[in-house]
Formats: sequence, C-alpha cells, structure tokens
Amino acid sequence: MGSYHPECPDRLRAIGDRLISAGLDPYLRHYTAPSATGEQIARVHSAQYVAAIEGESPESGLHFLDPDTAMNPHTLDAARRAAGAVVLGTDLVVRGECRTAFCAVRPPGHHAERNRAMGFCLFNNVAIGAAHALAVHGIERVAIVDFDVHHGNGTEDIYSGDPRVLMVGTFQHPLYPYSGFDNPASNMINVPLPAGTDGEVFREVVREHWLPALERHKPEIVYISAGFDAHREDPLAGLRFCEADYAWVTHELIAVAARHSKGRIVSTLEGGYELSALGRSVAEHIRELVAN
Ligand SMILES: [Zn+2]
Repeated sequence: MGSYHPECPDRLRAIGDRLISAGLDPYLRHYTAPSATGEQIARVHSAQYVAAIEGESPESGLHFLDPDTAMNPHTLDAARRAAGAVVLGTDLVVRGECRTAFCAVRPPGHHAERNRAMGFCLFNNVAIGAAHALAVHGIERVAIVDFDVHHGNGTEDIYSGDPRVLMVGTFQHPLYPYSGFDNPASNMINVPLPAGTDGEVFREVVREHWLPALERHKPEIVYISAGFDAHREDPLAGLRFCEADYAWVTHELIAVAARHSKGRIVSTLEGGYELSALGRSVAEHIRELVAN
C-alpha cells in the first residue's frame, strides 16, 4: 500500500513475534498458503471482476484501484494466497486434521464485494472459504462472525439473503465504509456501535444478538473475520476493546462451535493497525483457539 501505510508487512511480523514471545508458537502447525484457484474465487466474484483485477496488476510500482486500495507486482499473488489460506484452513478443519485454523494473511478481504475491490481488500477471503465449504464439503450451514471495527460490507454483499450463511457482526458507526446499519436481510445480524464503545458493551451485544442467532442457525463450521482494529490503541478507529475482549469472544465462539460445528473454526485476519496491540490481541485469540 506504500511505505507510509498502516496496512503493512510489519503487521504479520508483529503477530509472528508475539506468538513466539507468548510461548504459543510450539503449539501451532504452520502451513504455506496455496493460491486459491480460479474456480474457488469465481464462487464469490464475477468473471469480469477477476479479469479486471488481473488486468490491473502492475509490472512495477503501485497501481491504485481506489484511493484506499493499491496493487504492486506481488499483490495479485498475495491476494490469491490470502484466499487460498482460508480454503486450506477449511479443508484442514473439515477433514479433522486441525480443529481450528488461523490465517495470518494480507491483503484482508471483508470489504471486497462481488464486483468491487475496496478498503485494502481485493478478494473476499472469508467468503471464498465459506463458499468452498458449501460447494465441496457438503456443509449446509455456515456462520461468519466479523468483529473488525469496520463493517464487512463485502461479505454482506456476497451473502445477504443466502439462508445457508448467517453473518453476525459489530462495527463502529458512523465509520468507513458507512454501511451495515440498514440491511433488512434476516441472515445479517449487524450491530453498529458508537465511537467510544468498550468491551463490556461489546460483550452484552454478543450475548444479546450474536449468540441466540448462532444457536438458531446451528452452523456446521464457524468462520471469523478477525479484525483487531476495534482495540483501544488502534489509530484508525475509536472503539475501546482490549485483548481480554478478544479472548472472551473467541471463547464464546468456541463454545458455539463445540455445540454445533464439531469445534470447527477458521479465523482469518482482517484489520488491526497498531502493531503491538495487534500482536497481543492475535496471541490471545490464538491462545483460546489452541486451547480448544
Ligand atoms: Zn477494519
């Protein structure tokens, strides 16, 4: 995204460093993300869109798709692998080789709509993973949980009205991308939160709005659009979550997955731009996933 930009390679280094210093790394199995295939991507993005993205990939330098979303010569490969990571995570947990998976990927995905790149996102990684579970593994009910501080407009665009998929989310409002507060589709449980909302209110919202909907839907696999930019230290937004809130919500989702999904959770990184807070938050998230 350019050297000045908060969506930067150091984010993944901060996560890796923190997993080592927290003593969690020995409990993890690392996989290299494969590229998502054209068929896998085409389940959620139009052929015209994919062709356009491929055509815009620059030979050198940065090419901006919109003011927030740039490509360099390696971005297309990274975007295919970010989506492929969620596909691989899906295969691993559905086959029972892992109970849970966390995809440490860039670029993020939840703003990418069926026909539009935006908000640092090219392909909608979590949506591509969920589509893979539905198409290939005989899964009939999926949940997508999104606690990024920004509304997952892309995931909503792709799955709104699809009864196989329940999406539950919280996000700061008003804030980019200024959507999510008025969707009448019954499979979209969006809870906008005003700036300054802390983790106590977040937990009440989860108990009141997310958990009953998840219990009704009985997902066979749970996906998490795991953005950590609602952390109180994050520079891009104004919510006031902390590491303990991410641990708590992860623990609650593990309980849902244990009841309905054979424990299967695939979590994928979305936002989170204060490097230390991101590393600490992901470590607490993964500590819960490992303990599952
Ligand atoms: Zn975000």
